[in-house]
Amino acid sequence: MLSIFCSPARYTQGKNATASLGVEMSTLGLEGPALIIAGRSARSLLADVWRTSLGEAGIAYHVHNFGGECSASEIERIDKAVRETAARVIIGAGGGKVLDAARAAAADCNLPVVNCPTVASSDAPCSALSVIYTDDGSFEQYRIYRKNPDLVLVDTQVIAKSPPRLLVAGMGDALATWFEAKTCADGSIKNMRGGASTQTALALAELCYRTLLNDGADALRAVQTEVVTPSLERLVEANTLLSGLGFESSGLAAAHAIHNGLTAVPPTHAFLHGEKVAFGVLVQLILEGKQRSLVDQVLGFSAEVGLPMTLAEVGLGEMTSEMLQRIATRSTATGETIHNEPFEVRPELVSDAIRAADATGRAWKQKHGFAAAVRA
Ligand SMILES: [Zn+2]
Repeated sequence: MLSIFCSPARYTQGKNATASLGVEMSTLGLEGPALIIAGRSARSLLADVWRTSLGEAGIAYHVHNFGGECSASEIERIDKAVRETAARVIIGAGGGKVLDAARAAAADCNLPVVNCPTVASSDAPCSALSVIYTDDGSFEQYRIYRKNPDLVLVDTQVIAKSPPRLLVAGMGDALATWFEAKTCADGSIKNMRGGASTQTALALAELCYRTLLNDGADALRAVQTEVVTPSLERLVEANTLLSGLGFESSGLAAAHAIHNGLTAVPPTHAFLHGEKVAFGVLVQLILEGKQRSLVDQVLGFSAEVGLPMTLAEVGLGEMTSEMLQRIATRSTATGETIHNEPFEVRPELVSDAIRAADATGRAWKQKHGFAAAVRA
């Protein structure tokens, strides 16, 4: 098997980076007209900077208001807007779903794509895949594209003003990267590009985990105070670039499959991708029988930044056995990344690991004096 590593063509990050969007695009030879897919907060935050930055670079643009869900019907609406505006490049500006939809439309229309995340809530911006949901928010499928974005531009001034919960969710998504990457590399599993892991991807995934432990709590405080600090810069890079490169060029395993399983029951829909993934990490560690010191390190980190470590914290404080069955069945569906684990994974194994993870999380909280808080 060949080893394959992939990444965006260019990654640009820093305070007020949006002011350089036009220059960055021109440097890469990306010409207008552009179609900007944007959520509401991206529009209100960035409209003036787009006018200046893209205006000075001579890039004409239209703005398409994102419909709220990265679903097949929303992607079709964007494809239509691309044709109507004769766009030659697509810019996604907003949260994970906006960027996922922008990449999907760019692939449909065979156009270059620029991703400008306004939150660091997942590792999707750098990837060549999108997660497609149904219009009511259930996981539907992964769509995989030929290439990664042409440019990912992250404005840390914008991230500093984003809701702290979103940054924490990004840490949950990034928390899975090293554990899933290691499982895939150890098992000689094909990565998202159909090749073996490189040392590069594994080293980036491990750096991702180390950065969370070292900078996660400080970065959270920076966002709570709405300031940009070196810790926040490193953490945003971990959530966005390191995690993105690590998962795509090494692979996913149980944690993300558990996330997909959790989306099969409506009470979890109020929780973010990374929050469900964080609980999935715990389930993966239990499933793999990892040593207690590692589980404690992960639980300590989750508690410090406020990531879910119990079922109640992903909306399942009162989970019926029918719901658990549905989660376990969905997590182990054919083609799920849980089958990248080095042993056969049946639904019964998953439901036991979910219950055990919940009990472990609850016991840890009790021991360390955390209230059994329920967030919704
Ligand atoms: Zn993820």
